[in-house]
Amino acid sequence: MASELEPEVQAIDRSLLECSAEEIAGKWLQATDLTREVYQHLAHYVPQIYCRGPNPFPQKEDMLAQHVLLGPMEWYLCGEDPTFGFPKLEQANKPSHLCGRVFKVGEPTYSCRDCAVDPTCVLCMECFLGSIHRDHRYRMTTSGGGGFCDCGDTEAWKEGPYCQKHDLNTSETEEEEDPLVHLSEDVIARTYNIFAIMFRYAVEILTWEKENELPAELELEEQSDTYYCMLFNDEVHTYEQVIYTLQKAVNCTQKEAIGFATTVDRDGRRSVRYGDFQYCEQAKSVIVRNTSRQTKPLKVQVMHSSIVAHQNFGLKLLSWLGNVIGYSDGLRRILCQVGLQEGPDGESSSLVDRLMLSDSKLWKGARSVYHQLFMSSLLMDLKYKKLFAIRFAKNYERLQSDYVTDDHDREFSVADLSVQIFTVPSLARMLITEENLMTTIIKTFMDHLRHRDSQGRFQFERYTALQAFKFRRVQSLILDLKYVLISKPTEWSDELRQKFLEGFDAFLELLKCMQGMDPITRQVGQHIEMEPEWEAAFTLQMKLTHVISMMQDWCALDEKVLIEAYKKCLAVLMQCHGGFTDGEQPITLSICGHSVETIRYCVSQEKVSIHLPVSRLLAGLHVLLSKSEVAYKFPELLPLSELSPPMLIEHPLRCLVLCAQVHAGMWRRNGFSLVNQIYYYHNVKCRREMFDKDIIMLQTGVSMMDPNHFLMIMLSRFELYQIFSTPDYGKRFSSEITHKDVVQQNNTLIEEMLYLIIMLVGERFSPGVGQVDATDEIKREIIHQLSIKPMAHSELVKSLPEDENKETGMEGVIEAVAHFKKPGLTGRGMYELKPECAKEFNLYFYHFSRAEQSKAEEAQRKLKRQNREDTALPPPVLPPFCPLFASLVNILQSDVLLCIMRTILQWAVEHNGYAWSESMLQRVLHLIGMALQEEKQHLENAMEEHVVTFTFTQKISKPGEAPNNSPSILAMLETLQNAPYLEVHKDMIRWILKTFNAIKKIRESSSTSPVAETEGTIMEESSRDKDKAERKRKAEIARLRREKIMAQMSEMQRHFIDENKELFQQTLELDASSSAVLDNGPVVSDKTLIALGPAKTQISEQRQFVTCILCQEEQEVKVEDSAMVLAAFVQRSTVLSKNRNKFIQDPEKYDPLFMHPDLSCGTHTGSCGHVMHAHCWQRYFDSVQAKEQRRQQRLRLHTSYDVENGEFLCPLCECLSNTVIPLLLPPRNIFSRLNFSDQPNLTQWIRTVSQQIKALQALRKEGSASDTASSKHVENVNELQLPEGFRPDFQPKNPYSESIKEMLTTFGTATYKVGLKVHPNEEDPRVPIMCWGSCAYTIQSLERILSDEDKPLFGPLPCRLDDCLRSLTRFAAAHWTVVSLSVVQGHFGRLFASLVPNDSHEDLPCILDIDMFHLLVSLVLAFPTLQCQDFSGISLGTGDLHIFHLVTMAHIVQILLTSCTEENGMDQENPTGEEELAVLALYKTVRQYTGSALRGTPSGWHLWRTVKAGVMPFLKCSALFFHYLNGVPSPPDFQASGTNNFEHLCNYLSLPNNLICLFQENSEIMNSLIESWCRNNEVRRYLEGERDAISYPRESNKLIDLPEDYSSLINQASNFSCPKSGGDKSRAPTLCLVCGTLLCSQSYCCQTELEGEDVGACTAHTYSCGSGAGIFLRVRECQVLFLAGKTKGCFYSPPYLDDYGETDQGLRRGNPLRLCRERFKKIQKLWHQHSVTEEIGHAQEANQTLVGIDWQHL
Ligand SMILES: [Zn+2]
Ligand SMILES: [Zn+2]
Ligand SMILES: [Zn+2]
Ligand SMILES: [Zn+2]
Ligand SMILES: [Zn+2]
Ligand SMILES: [Zn+2]
Ligand SMILES: [Zn+2]
Repeated sequence: MASELEPEVQAIDRSLLECSAEEIAGKWLQATDLTREVYQHLAHYVPQIYCRGPNPFPQKEDMLAQHVLLGPMEWYLCGEDPTFGFPKLEQANKPSHLCGRVFKVGEPTYSCRDCAVDPTCVLCMECFLGSIHRDHRYRMTTSGGGGFCDCGDTEAWKEGPYCQKHDLNTSETEEEEDPLVHLSEDVIARTYNIFAIMFRYAVEILTWEKENELPAELELEEQSDTYYCMLFNDEVHTYEQVIYTLQKAVNCTQKEAIGFATTVDRDGRRSVRYGDFQYCEQAKSVIVRNTSRQTKPLKVQVMHSSIVAHQNFGLKLLSWLGNVIGYSDGLRRILCQVGLQEGPDGESSSLVDRLMLSDSKLWKGARSVYHQLFMSSLLMDLKYKKLFAIRFAKNYERLQSDYVTDDHDREFSVADLSVQIFTVPSLARMLITEENLMTTIIKTFMDHLRHRDSQGRFQFERYTALQAFKFRRVQSLILDLKYVLISKPTEWSDELRQKFLEGFDAFLELLKCMQGMDPITRQVGQHIEMEPEWEAAFTLQMKLTHVISMMQDWCALDEKVLIEAYKKCLAVLMQCHGGFTDGEQPITLSICGHSVETIRYCVSQEKVSIHLPVSRLLAGLHVLLSKSEVAYKFPELLPLSELSPPMLIEHPLRCLVLCAQVHAGMWRRNGFSLVNQIYYYHNVKCRREMFDKDIIMLQTGVSMMDPNHFLMIMLSRFELYQIFSTPDYGKRFSSEITHKDVVQQNNTLIEEMLYLIIMLVGERFSPGVGQVDATDEIKREIIHQLSIKPMAHSELVKSLPEDENKETGMEGVIEAVAHFKKPGLTGRGMYELKPECAKEFNLYFYHFSRAEQSKAEEAQRKLKRQNREDTALPPPVLPPFCPLFASLVNILQSDVLLCIMRTILQWAVEHNGYAWSESMLQRVLHLIGMALQEEKQHLENAMEEHVVTFTFTQKISKPGEAPNNSPSILAMLETLQNAPYLEVHKDMIRWILKTFNAIKKIRESSSTSPVAETEGTIMEESSRDKDKAERKRKAEIARLRREKIMAQMSEMQRHFIDENKELFQQTLELDASSSAVLDNGPVVSDKTLIALGPAKTQISEQRQFVTCILCQEEQEVKVEDSAMVLAAFVQRSTVLSKNRNKFIQDPEKYDPLFMHPDLSCGTHTGSCGHVMHAHCWQRYFDSVQAKEQRRQQRLRLHTSYDVENGEFLCPLCECLSNTVIPLLLPPRNIFSRLNFSDQPNLTQWIRTVSQQIKALQALRKEGSASDTASSKHVENVNELQLPEGFRPDFQPKNPYSESIKEMLTTFGTATYKVGLKVHPNEEDPRVPIMCWGSCAYTIQSLERILSDEDKPLFGPLPCRLDDCLRSLTRFAAAHWTVVSLSVVQGHFGRLFASLVPNDSHEDLPCILDIDMFHLLVSLVLAFPTLQCQDFSGISLGTGDLHIFHLVTMAHIVQILLTSCTEENGMDQENPTGEEELAVLALYKTVRQYTGSALRGTPSGWHLWRTVKAGVMPFLKCSALFFHYLNGVPSPPDFQASGTNNFEHLCNYLSLPNNLICLFQENSEIMNSLIESWCRNNEVRRYLEGERDAISYPRESNKLIDLPEDYSSLINQASNFSCPKSGGDKSRAPTLCLVCGTLLCSQSYCCQTELEGEDVGACTAHTYSCGSGAGIFLRVRECQVLFLAGKTKGCFYSPPYLDDYGETDQGLRRGNPLRLCRERFKKIQKLWHQHSVTEEIGHAQEANQTLVGIDWQHL
């Protein structure tokens, strides 16, 4: 279709390109009616450029629009060629200090915690790095898009508002200068003209609502009628729904549909069909029909194409305006002027107003374009920012209402600009005073919550879905209120006072609607049927918490405001509860001769509410009054006489009683909603303006009352009055033995009541209540948190309330109360309480939850025991109350409390007859302790002449009064001290008695009468003796218990050894084998240890016994016995790869015989080292398989392992495995024959072997030519000229048992299957190759790890690794016995021919393209197939040695060819050493054979060094290989690191120390071989620079370098855009830590198909980069991601830590993060060790939710 249109389109384009911008601009300059002229131009050209077909062509459109439409405007504006005009404007411009950079999604932003006025003030990365704040405490976040850099805004920063870049011209006049002075009159006039027209055009067309008709001025006479079916974005439908619908409606492919959906989501609309009206209308109706079933349908419009064209250009125009004003602040000012100029319709008719007011009608793309323009124009111009702010405030109500009904997220609404305006302190203040903004916001908010109950309170119950939606949206208004209040005024004008108080009134109205909302009644009889709605009310409370606090902060700043606010608040509270004493007759309560009148009210029977914001606000204001001392200076200003204390305390008290009753289980039938409410009431997020303030309100009320009266009212509200007012009530009550439940209930209530008294007297750490400041308060919080346990920084932060700036104030005080302990390789840094702070511990700290309290108690007692102190936890010494609250202490010595305490102590003394509890007693003891501390304080601080009125000690010494005549409290305590049933509290009682005596001493020191004291001491003494005896008894009990536990433990341990015998066995064996070497030391000297060849050290292998972990039976490893196997995991690996772009294309045809030296795809085998019988394993595996099938059918659950792929977990350690390796004895010993003394030298040997190979080839040719009977076969053999003693018809007998043979096949097939990713086929000739390859690759990867970590070659290895390598090597050596001999012989022939060429192999790789170690392993392991038919007397050892020497020499030549770079000018002395001379000679030979293509003549010294370094890894691998193959122990020198290993290696490997001697000794054959290697065409190409080759030594692969500072990674990722959807920002940029590629993860756009399934970018990447496994860093989340295959993955803790030694997964806290190298190394090590898959397995086993994640879509 495109080609059809082509000529026509081209014609139009040509005519368009002929337009001259200059000419058009010239015409405009002459025009009398410029508007008409320009509009005509647009009407004519816009539809020709935009929207000419079904799909947009952005590049072409932009190009044409610039040429035909924008160009003329630029000419007109500049009055000359804009390429000169704009730079001139730019030069003349004096830029403002504002940075104003608009943030992209995901871009890092920085906020200074020390200097930012509020947390919304942020800097871009560039400004931040150039600012003083980089050395301050800062927070880092990623932007959600929108918003801009506040650099240069003096109002945003307390200090350092400019970065270096924007600080350029502060030295000049600070005064505001009119930017227009830098422009000429002409330019101003023209700019004004063109801006006015264009801005109006854009606004008009974007807000145009007709679908089929243009504005009259743009209408053309002739027009073609084409239409678009336009699909709009909404937040209701999902991606999947849209994609599905589109496929149906417009008949497109899934891919196209995804494209449409992505654009709709991004831009807000996309045309999905183009054509005539009917055609589009039809698509529309299908879409609407398909999406209207459950929800409201997708929005679709059929629009005339020319409207769409103009709208597209309108958007282009707005961006253009944004660009043009960037040239000059003057232009920007003109645009602002144009935008805010009032239109013909008066108020709210400016272009800016019109855009804002139609915001909710615009699509997403249009909104963001004009929002951006606003940000770069109006918000950047200080003068117009203010005017704009006023427009915004005037439209506020309308904008918010539009937003509430709009279905787009807030970030796409113009209402979101409030954060840019309201957070500017001067603007906020101006808007409050001039536009009454506070009141407007609150009123708007209230208007949207109209649903009220009969008392006018909010009612959230039975909200419809729509109301709930509105409620969610309207919450953003609270955020606006917060922005307005966040910066507090430094000075007050009367205007501000008035408007603030007006706002405060409105706020009180709001709180009034909340006071008493969601009331509840106790459910008796049956359980509630439906959980009532409670979350909405709490959401509101939670959102308002900071606002309430900030209101108080504002009030605190001005006495007049504070007093007025206090009066207003009190008045509203009285309105709420004015009538609470009405109705019923008051009742009279009396105890101990005190009596009080109160109302009849039972929490358990009547309505009660948790929501009391008005009371709580009043409490807050009261504390402020107390702090500000205005109350003492001008009490007449306060309405104190109007305060009715009983009224103040009533509702908070009810609320606290409710909590107590809930705790006592009385409200069980009210369900979970109540439990949740109580939880949040105390929770750190709410408590500051809920629970804390209720306590303060009670303290306020009580401080104005007779404490006896208060206590009686409290008893009555707790419904405990009867118990304590009737002397014998307790006795009667318990003897009735009524309900156990009721007894329990009452006990809990009494405990709770005592706790409340403790809190009322003890909680003095709010400034204003006690004489403390804010730091004391926070210190105390921290001390109590750390009393529970040491905590990490983030944990601590979470337990502390945050203020509106997200600060807890912790950093300032933490040093004073805690030590920091740094983290290790795992875990986090921890804060520990300083020991000296322990004395401030209060067991009844009011913010402890019950669980925390008991944990803290236990921890503190333990600490005391450790320090050998007594374990009493007495109340701490408290700071004094502020004067307004001072009378509170009198509760402690009030008659009613003494009565309560006496009663409870009495119960405890007569402990059998009463229902009492130990916690009750503990609380009474604590209260007594508090009173004693108080009295002591009073005495110590009292001036000499002052009479101390606090006389608690006297009161408790007096016996009780009639009628019950109980003993004194003191006497009772003395009795209890010896009560055997009060063991735990003994220390506390002792502490009380001691303190009592100390006080007595102080009191008596003035009156000198020492009589009572001696009595006391004696008593104390005797008690101490008793105490000692008691302690002894306890110690004895403890000892017995310990013994019992020990016995149990050793029993368990024995079981463990039984069950894990094999483990222990192994450890023992390992010890034995290593010591064996040392024992042999004197006999076998180091030099004689030789790993291979005829001179190999003869070692008799020890008999090996192993135990099956499944059946626990022990068995010896024997050739003829049933097989023992190790659990093993085979995986493909690219860890050593030097070429990540290479992977196996077609596994069916792939030939793995030669490993390329880039090691691009290897097969690694690992094992946990656990041994099983082969048959036990079989049974186990079968049962796993069966179980899995059942499970999948039943639960459709995934597991961490894939049974169908042969995976299972090791039954002992749950390590992921996918096959087993048989345990074998050294296989060479089985096949070695007698050694004839006369062994061939290398040359002879090569000839013999060549002949043998030739013979075999000839035979095979014969065999395949005629498939004849065996007799004929034999005949042919005889006809051939066979080398002496060679018998190709000989079939060796397989020595292994059936079971072992089966396991050899099993493991071989598994390696083949995994390594090549093909279906298992044990007959495939590639099976043995894969086995050898895995052996070689695994050894190579171990060698790399050891070298990288600088560890000795034969140092102590973990025994699992040792076992694995030994079994793997021996397995690979034995594997040929289960394969067809001729297949392996064929392999050997080809392998051999790669070094010793013969005629029949031509397609072999040149030596540059062969990894020599793989070649060595394959040759050595294939050789027995030849040797077993050779009866000439050549031993296996001889063959090994010659193969090894041959390959080593090939490797040396390889190194000489590839790795001898030119020297760096260091002229060395003439070669002196023997090695140097030799290598130089060799080099010359090589050079000669390459036809001198090998350049230069490096010095011998350099050559020798290069060769040695290059060959070292190969030698090390070979040593490991032969060690495991032949079992020769390693010389002890290898076991220590640091020694020069080269000579030892050579000796061990039977090599001359001068490796070049090998060539010299065998020069006869070597010269011809070297020649054949060097004459190869590939070698020539390489030397001539036409291709690359690997050089040696190969460097180890490392994970990529990560930057020190995490934010530079964020920045890097924010610049990264999705590679598939043209410049879009990627939502989840993810970094491959292996190769450094950034990927667009977890997103539709970058899904690709892999093996018939859609996979995300990461999974797709693992297939090429990591052959299925991958290590990634999810940059936005700061999370490491491990992936393996399509179904496995886990998250791993990132290598970035903050200053507190914690990671920040999800970047929630925003503390600066720095690279922790140790942790990164640990990740790298996991990778090197091939443990990533294993790590994933363990993570998934530990956390089942990980199994459910769709890893493949990441
Ligand atoms: Zn900036
Ligand atoms: Zn800056
Ligand atoms: Zn700062
Ligand atoms: Zn077994
Ligand atoms: Zn295991
Ligand atoms: Zn993408
Ligand atoms: Zn990669």
